[in-house]
Amino acid sequence: MSPGIETGPFGSLDFCFVAHSPMSREKVIGPCHICGIEGELSFEHVPPRSAFNSRPVRVARGRQLFSTPNIDELRTERQNRGAGDYTLCERCNNNTGSWYGAAYSDWARQGMELLSRARGDPTLIYPYRILPLRVIKQVVCMFFSINAPDFRTRIPYLEEFVLARERKYLPDDIRIYAAYTTSPHTRSAGASGILYEAGGFTHGVIVSEIGCPPFIYVMTLDSESPDRRLGDISWFAHSGYAESRSIDVRLPVLPINTPYPTDYRTRDEIQKAAAMSAANAGRPDHERER
Ligand SMILES: [Zn+2]
Repeated sequence: MSPGIETGPFGSLDFCFVAHSPMSREKVIGPCHICGIEGELSFEHVPPRSAFNSRPVRVARGRQLFSTPNIDELRTERQNRGAGDYTLCERCNNNTGSWYGAAYSDWARQGMELLSRARGDPTLIYPYRILPLRVIKQVVCMFFSINAPDFRTRIPYLEEFVLARERKYLPDDIRIYAAYTTSPHTRSAGASGILYEAGGFTHGVIVSEIGCPPFIYVMTLDSESPDRRLGDISWFAHSGYAESRSIDVRLPVLPINTPYPTDYRTRDEIQKAAAMSAANAGRPDHERER
């Protein structure tokens, strides 16, 4: 681990798991992830710089993520300006930042204070005072940034949702879920197909995920929630642009210990699974421990 890189009250932010293309240090030309216009791209912090993302991070990307099952051994590169990438044109970056950035940072600050007061384990419902529509629009902007440029063409409605600042409501097939996290590891994953087992059945979902203290966000695309513990915050999109509301939020606290999207296993659970897998190696199916 690399010591001395600190963020928020939960210690060092050692790794940022990023699953998209490598970042160039040159002037970056390409399509804006929100409006699609080709041109020079500006650096978009994800989450916003003022939401506990102004310190250096160590980033593991692409194939590096799967070079070892032990996250402490991942090869990383230092990114001094915080987590993010060159993804938005100047206009989209400035507009969405000025419309939604401050409201988002306020929500993140309240979340971080709550986690800090509750020592990382909030068990009660806590009241927030926020501008819900602006918060969820910033979250959607973050999903644009961490996904590939063609994400905008897969869900055309979302471009208008963030560029028309008064626009309310998400389409029925797009849900946004949230949880708290105090993990020193952050993770972002573009739209991915995930298989998981529940109730004796294998389920398939398409999700995109951003996890960075104090929050984890999961966007589902025409899919059910991959984890019932996550709280649905899609209703934030029902408020007006200037509507400040007192809301009660109850969210679980989930860890991030692997690069795999929506994997919220604790370190103990991961070690037990690895031990069982080793014990079962070479055994016929009917003799396997489960
Ligand atoms: Zn743009």
